[in-house]
Amino acid sequence: MQRLSRRQFTLGLAATSTLAAVVGSSMALRSGQRALIVGGGPAGAEAALALKSLHPAASVLLVERDPRRLVREHGDTTTSAFVRPRLEAGLANLKAAGVDVVLDDVTGIDWRAGRAELFSGRGLAFDRLLLAPGTAPRDEGIPGLDAVARHAWPAAWGSEREARRLLVQLHRLKTGGQVVLRLPEGELVHPAAAVSRAFALMAHVSRRPGARLTVLDGSTDPHLSDRFMAAVPASLSHRVEWIAAGSGGRVRSVDAAAGLIETEAGSIRADVVNFVPALEAGTIARTAGLADASGWCPCDAQGRSVLRAEALVLGDAQRSALRTVAGALQSARNAAVALA
Ligand SMILES: Cc1cc2nc3c(=O)[nH]c(=O)nc-3n(C[C@H](O)[C@H](O)[C@H](O)COP(=O)(O)OP(=O)(O)OC[C@H]3O[C@@H](n4cnc5c(N)ncnc54)[C@H](O)[C@@H]3O)c2cc1C
Repeated sequence: MQRLSRRQFTLGLAATSTLAAVVGSSMALRSGQRALIVGGGPAGAEAALALKSLHPAASVLLVERDPRRLVREHGDTTTSAFVRPRLEAGLANLKAAGVDVVLDDVTGIDWRAGRAELFSGRGLAFDRLLLAPGTAPRDEGIPGLDAVARHAWPAAWGSEREARRLLVQLHRLKTGGQVVLRLPEGELVHPAAAVSRAFALMAHVSRRPGARLTVLDGSTDPHLSDRFMAAVPASLSHRVEWIAAGSGGRVRSVDAAAGLIETEAGSIRADVVNFVPALEAGTIARTAGLADASGWCPCDAQGRSVLRAEALVLGDAQRSALRTVAGALQSARNAAVALA
């Protein structure tokens, strides 16, 4: 990603602030007030920097539950094909900009008291709340897909811990073994990442004699299989199969202990399964009452919640989000401007 210089960053925000001043904002953050940001991914970290830049006198506090998320550089390159790109500002940048950072999990929001409840038992008071919690798996009601199955068949969809578990399984893949990538039903949240994932798994399969990769694609995206299959080398084409939803790629039930997946096209036995779940807005957005029946948070162009006027939602959790890093960064800048 192209990094902006501090001057470019400030000029860009200033231009957008002028627009905001014309549009008008009832949410303006005043000197000395406290802005609390939940989530330190690209959206949350960028919002913290933008807010501090626009409101140096305001108190900006960011809460992130995953300490690894705030480490700018990390040594583990083995998992890079299975995790999100690391483009958000790290802890050092945030602190240098004057942002306070708390490592904790926000478990509830008391809107009336203006207080966020933390897993540690602490509470944090706020005047403005910005939620950037990203996504969480949605319960799809698939028989057999319980916590044990999810552990055995890691999604590795943003979680580095799960990525490492999946990699161990791939390294142990036996000669002639079967790998399955499952993509959820409906509209895919990160379609480009899904195709990249199929390539990453194919690379592992190609290194194990006779091993096979089957993609069970329950999605409504008709182009994914074409994009993937067109780039599969001829030497591997007989070991790779993409079963789209229309050809029976939807999963009906699973038995992880037996390594069995029932699809609309019949059953498949697998040695390694990368089971990507359907997603919705991060749990705290739903707990806070900001998600609608779609599971996502309806917002206006500046991230103001349609369901609760005093809240701002950024990044992937927004119902109409692009769900790319660039989209997350832009939503953060828009939200900061909404508080200008
Ligand atoms: C496997 C994968 C590959 C991808 N590849 C690309 C790519 O190549 N290019 C691209 O542009 N985009 C890619 N994306 C999409 C991109 O990563 C997301 O769009 C972007 O990360 C969204 O940023 P965000 O800040 O909204 O959410 P996230 O990045 O999900 O960050 C949310 C943060 O909030 C924290 N959090 C959540 N709830 C709480 C809570 N209650 N308390 C405290 N902290 C909390 C989480 O720990 C997390 O760190 C990929 C996504 C995935 C899953």
